[in-house]
Amino acid sequence: MSAALRTLTVLGSTGSIGVSTLDVVARYPERYRIHALTGATQLDRLFEQAQTFRPRYAVVLDERSAEQLAARLRAAGSDTEVLCGEAALEQVSIAPEVCTVMAAIVGAAGMKPTLAAARAGKRVLLANKETLVLAGRLFMDEVKASGAELLPIDSEHNAIFQVLPRAHREHPYAQGLRESGVRRILLTASGGPFRTRAIETFARITPEEAVKHPNWSMGRKISVDSASMMNKGLEVIEARWLFNAQPEEISVLVHPQSIVHSMVEYADGSVLAQMGSPDMRTPIAYGMAYPERIDPGVKSLDLFSVGRLDFEAPDLARFPCLRLAFEALAAGGAATAVLNAANEVAVAAFLDNRLSFPGIAALGEAVLAQVGGLPADDLDALLHADAVAREAATAWLSRQERPC
Ligand code: NAD
Ligand code: MG
Repeated sequence: MSAALRTLTVLGSTGSIGVSTLDVVARYPERYRIHALTGATQLDRLFEQAQTFRPRYAVVLDERSAEQLAARLRAAGSDTEVLCGEAALEQVSIAPEVCTVMAAIVGAAGMKPTLAAARAGKRVLLANKETLVLAGRLFMDEVKASGAELLPIDSEHNAIFQVLPRAHREHPYAQGLRESGVRRILLTASGGPFRTRAIETFARITPEEAVKHPNWSMGRKISVDSASMMNKGLEVIEARWLFNAQPEEISVLVHPQSIVHSMVEYADGSVLAQMGSPDMRTPIAYGMAYPERIDPGVKSLDLFSVGRLDFEAPDLARFPCLRLAFEALAAGGAATAVLNAANEVAVAAFLDNRLSFPGIAALGEAVLAQVGGLPADDLDALLHADAVAREAATAWLSRQERPC
């Protein structure tokens, strides 16, 4: 029997995850059709993607880009219609003909269309971890209410999903992890490019050094987050919501080879791990074809050439961002939304050479102390906290630049 045709919207198709997703789609033209592609950057790439995958819609952020892209597509004889703005991102995420939405926009900007896809009961392939950091409880409530199928794409969470009991991974809120026979989640981290670099030299770290991840090729923001280990902090928060895990049920292990993508320890002492070559096409293909398995072109894991697997405890003095994430999770309310927003401002400033690498954690800590206590009663409150945190972060930055 041939598999049913699935129609996809790829939010953030021009980014690292978006490109890997389309690589998998291209291998299975009889299984997947593209409804919409979206991108805020790299519009030449969006044009080429539209030519190759012939989506019904291409979505960009502003009108000027929309006009330019539409003119190019028309001249090339394309039928793809170009839309623009936030409302269009939501429109293409909830369209009735769409079964699956790949949520691969970076940052809090990805939250609204991802939430809309969940509310509309789609299969949501969740790469955009910031949605859960910003609005974890609310997002999971939407998933429960609509019966959306949520499949984690972040490699660690995809690994955990693969080795959790099926009942728990599909209905994580029916009971706690302990009742499902699970003792704890072991979240692995590569430790990034600065795991062994002398701490005294951290103030001299350049953006080019920070975006060079030893094992994974990723977008710039998540690469900096990996270097500061804020990424692991965001992933702890992500795991808390995805798997209905209490913070004390999540342990972080530094595993420099990035072969074990994460593990689950059961009540009887068994530890199940998912392993593989570090290639995002594995979790993407898993989410796209679930519960079937398809070949996304990932090379076989050669354990002989890997040779050894090392594990060590994370160094919180070296990586204060990880500590901040645990503190924000413990504080509750809008604290994780505040930390996420402060971090986005900090990473952008670092990439722009306006903030030192240690400044990322310093800014996060300061903004968390200043406005981390804001409430998180509903979406408006969370968006308010996000905006207030961005203002506080921007003000902190300008005080650093112009001390008086
Ligand atoms: P990227 O920077 O390579 O791509 C981001 C995409 O989002 C691009 O298409 C960009 O045009 C679009 N975008 C950026 N700002 C936007 C805005 N304001 N509105 C609408 N679209 C916007 O990022 P990436 O590495 O592909 O990561 C995407 C998401 O997946 C992030 O949340 C990241 O944390 C998560 N993730 C990525 C990886 C990875 O290997 N790259 C792994 C795990 C999780
Ligand atoms: Mg990850």
